Amino acid sequence: MANTYQGARRGGSSRPGGGRRGGKGGRGGARTVAMRQVRPVERTPVTLPSVMSVAELAELLQTTGIEIIKELMKLNIMANLNQQIDYNTAVQVATSLGWETNEHVSEVVQAAAADFTARQAEAGTDPDSRARPPVVTIMGHVDHGKTKLLDAIREANVAEGEAGGITQHIGAYQVETAGRKVTFLDTPGHEAFTAMRARGAQATDIAVLVVAADDGVMPTTREAVAHIKSANVPMVVAINKIDLPAANPDRVKQQLSEIEVMPEEWGGDVPMVEVSAREKLGLDDLLEVVLLVADVNELKANPSKPANGVVIEAKVDRNRGPVATVLVQSGTLNLRDVVVAGSTSGRIKAMFDDRGKRVRRAEPSFPVEILGLLEVPQAGDTFQVFDDERVARTLVEQRQLQRRADALIGDRTVSLTDLYSQVQAGTAAELRVILKTDVQGSLGAIQNALLKLNDETDQSVQLAIQLAGAGAITESDVSLAAVTRSIIIGFNVRPDVAAKRAADTAGIDIRFYNIIYHLIDEVKLAMTGLLAPVYQDITDGYAEVRNTFKLPGGDVVAGCYVLDGRIVRSSKARVLRSGTVVSEGSIKSLKRFKDDVREVAAGYECGLGLDNFNDLQVGDQIEFYHREEVARA
Ligand code: GDP
Repeated sequence: MANTYQGARRGGSSRPGGGRRGGKGGRGGARTVAMRQVRPVERTPVTLPSVMSVAELAELLQTTGIEIIKELMKLNIMANLNQQIDYNTAVQVATSLGWETNEHVSEVVQAAAADFTARQAEAGTDPDSRARPPVVTIMGHVDHGKTKLLDAIREANVAEGEAGGITQHIGAYQVETAGRKVTFLDTPGHEAFTAMRARGAQATDIAVLVVAADDGVMPTTREAVAHIKSANVPMVVAINKIDLPAANPDRVKQQLSEIEVMPEEWGGDVPMVEVSAREKLGLDDLLEVVLLVADVNELKANPSKPANGVVIEAKVDRNRGPVATVLVQSGTLNLRDVVVAGSTSGRIKAMFDDRGKRVRRAEPSFPVEILGLLEVPQAGDTFQVFDDERVARTLVEQRQLQRRADALIGDRTVSLTDLYSQVQAGTAAELRVILKTDVQGSLGAIQNALLKLNDETDQSVQLAIQLAGAGAITESDVSLAAVTRSIIIGFNVRPDVAAKRAADTAGIDIRFYNIIYHLIDEVKLAMTGLLAPVYQDITDGYAEVRNTFKLPGGDVVAGCYVLDGRIVRSSKARVLRSGTVVSEGSIKSLKRFKDDVREVAAGYECGLGLDNFNDLQVGDQIEFYHREEVARA
């Protein structure tokens, strides 16, 4: 695929979510007539809120909580009185108890969403669009100088008249060179970039790939290239550390050309600039090239509209409440604007630029810290300005409902028989997935990204998430996978011993990822039948930490008991605490009594030290594994 900056075009930013909704289709309205208890003679239709607790629903429907819980059980939802249920589910319960429900107010929301989509689409063709500064992300291998480069550029190019101001780290900054501005996102590396993409946002216009001239192309360099190419973002290479005697820029270019990043001077399409972040050499050249690429790509936006853009960072400040750094992508953000960001909203009380200076407005590509949101949005959430506070509130309500509904689906006790009958009735080809993640945050992001795959054209296979939840992969997940013929996807979580055994026995495919992009990409490939052979982790064994010792040097050695399989000295080790991966690395020492050993089998004890991890705790489980190439179907 060409990674040319001439060719780069934003894909029409499709909106996340919007696909799946609440319950399982309300059948059986008539069935319950006979079972109904005391029924008031005259009933006016009931108006249900977006989300309510079981107890609240009981009150609205003039019945008992127990009655509601029983109805929910018929829908396969195990709930208690305080549990929140979503509108669709409540409608099903109400209907089956003989109530009529008023239409939900969703027209406003639909109008708002349509309005936003239209605004996004206009950006390219709008006659009022003007050139805007490029937004740049710096990527590359660790220690190649990403942070140093970001700092050097910032120090050397503070906008005129602003020198001496105090630098604030708000997640992005702007510099000025030759009278033009460039915006840098200051979280280097592709993780943030990818996490945003997984949430449906793309903030970066141009990626600067940093490669140290003495070290050359390294694993993370390759990874970053893959991410940049897949996002179709134009790339500029900064060959850094040219001040070092060992610097060899030609070798770097050679290595890059081998991974299809072809230097312009060799007839390719990737500009490469030699720099030294330490000595501040070549920084102006780099910025000049970035601006050139920006010009070629005609980066534009209309500044005279209500703003929209993306959340770069967000946190709660003890004194100031929710604080978010947002990047305006089009329009102009003004003080006192009403903003919806992800599933929260608010009126902007104050705005600050990257030097902590109060500002009243922010134009396209301008990063600002905003105060006034009611809650903390997530990085990668998009934001929009609304004229009407009511519309904003309704939209937020709708999004919160969706979020809670998602959480409910995660918590729901799944009935195997129910799912089994669905499988039996299954028609279209489906890739069924059980998704387990370390934290709730990644769960939502991955779920959305996966479901979005279904909207892509030309896909004969549809993806169906059977279960999504945060926590370790358990034996019950494996049996669910067996019954529903699903694969299990673990993001930063691993199966415990029992689950692993069950999966091996039942032949269940469990796949592990720690980079969202890899996960999505592989599932996508699987859906299109293009999955290439890859490496897979083969488990050698499991051990449990029974006690720990601190050595004089500070290293921690654990007394372990091998539960299953064996430990081989060359194995990789993955430390699991409550099913979550807390460390991955190599074995530093493996001993039986005082002797170094190559291998320890199940049922034996051993002393174990890990490279770069001294936080082993009693009760930790350690999984030992090695990598093998496997051909995937
Ligand atoms: P990052 O992990 O990619 O963010 O790398 P850093 O910016 O932390 O830099 C890693 C190390 O390389 C630090 O010790 C820097 O001082 C050093 N470094 C960065 N840029 C240069 C450079 O241009 N020349 C030299 N000699 N060292 C550099």
